[in-house]
Amino acid sequence: MVKYLITGGAGFIGSNFIRYILSKERDCHVLNVDKLTYAGNLGNLRDVEQDDRYEFVKCDIVDDEFGKIVKEYRPDILLNFAAATHIDRSIRYPKEFVLTDVVGAFNVAYTVLKNNVKVAIHISTDEIYGSIIGKSVKEDAKLDPTSPYSASKASADLLLLSYLKTYKLPLIIVRPCNNYGRNQYPEKLVSLSIVRLLSDKPVILHGEGKEIREWIHVSDCCRALYGIVKKGRIGEIYNLGSGIRFTNMNMITMIMEEMFGRVYVNMIKKIPNRPGNDKGYAIDSSKLVSLIGDYVTIPIRQGLRMTIDWYRENEWFWKGKIDIDANIYTENDEYLR
Ligand code: NAD
Repeated sequence: MVKYLITGGAGFIGSNFIRYILSKERDCHVLNVDKLTYAGNLGNLRDVEQDDRYEFVKCDIVDDEFGKIVKEYRPDILLNFAAATHIDRSIRYPKEFVLTDVVGAFNVAYTVLKNNVKVAIHISTDEIYGSIIGKSVKEDAKLDPTSPYSASKASADLLLLSYLKTYKLPLIIVRPCNNYGRNQYPEKLVSLSIVRLLSDKPVILHGEGKEIREWIHVSDCCRALYGIVKKGRIGEIYNLGSGIRFTNMNMITMIMEEMFGRVYVNMIKKIPNRPGNDKGYAIDSSKLVSLIGDYVTIPIRQGLRMTIDWYRENEWFWKGKIDIDANIYTENDEYLR
């Protein structure tokens, strides 16, 4: 039996990944360790919470308690999804990001070594390469992060890579592009725009919405992550992209077309751009495709329709529970003033 320890499993990608493992493997056990920040929601896993193969423990990966949990559980494989993840919040509350994304990643590495865990897969991000316009970048590109979020994630990558060299940490790093899909806390472009439109509120666009992002449906991301669990090589870094690149304005336009059959310009509220907003991201994922084959199966419009349907059918997840104006960076933000 394979024992998985997933950190941050109550969040967006982590919860989808836990559901994915349980659907793929009969003989496994999954321990979800999550601090349950505002972005963590055990409701994301309510369909599997009765499953004997699944268990949840509330814990902060920064704390010593995390080491005790790992020592007792003795996982075969650990996947670290836990992170503070929203760029707008990282501009407001950078300390949260340094603590979880850097110190937390350090504690995970330390704990993995101390307890002889065989494989640790760290979930990084394509944002650590900084702004990339045009030719997509491979895993050996220079890191050039621009936000406290991406700088914290880049710091963790460097720290973990030093652990690989110095202590032979059994590490694999994965750098996914922007995910969208079910169970995402409504603060990022796709989930927030859908929920705002379902609430008859205009979508919020930073600047003119010309920034280009690479988009993957979360179920394709989970398929690829599972491929890495099965075939990934220790010591390697894998970009996990889709090649599907659209501007933020393109995404909003497609969401409106899928929801209403047309675009309502008066339902787009432009606000000043956030500082350091990268103009584009573009990653070359050929290394991962060579390892596991093609993993992108969901075209953008189909993925958006699936996502819209999920938020429509699952109001319990967001309606009346989330302040959809709270986590947007505005020029009135006070940090460092
Ligand atoms: P999320 O914000 O939805 O979930 C993060 C989860 O981590 C939450 O459940 C939260 O409670 C938990 N958490 C936060 N701090 C913690 C701590 N100190 N200890 C334990 N648990 C803690 O994030 P997500 O979108 O699912 O992202 C998962 C990972 O993937 C992150 O590492 C993120 O950087 C990376 N990533 C995300 C995307 C994306 O588009 N969502 C793209 C690339 C990479």
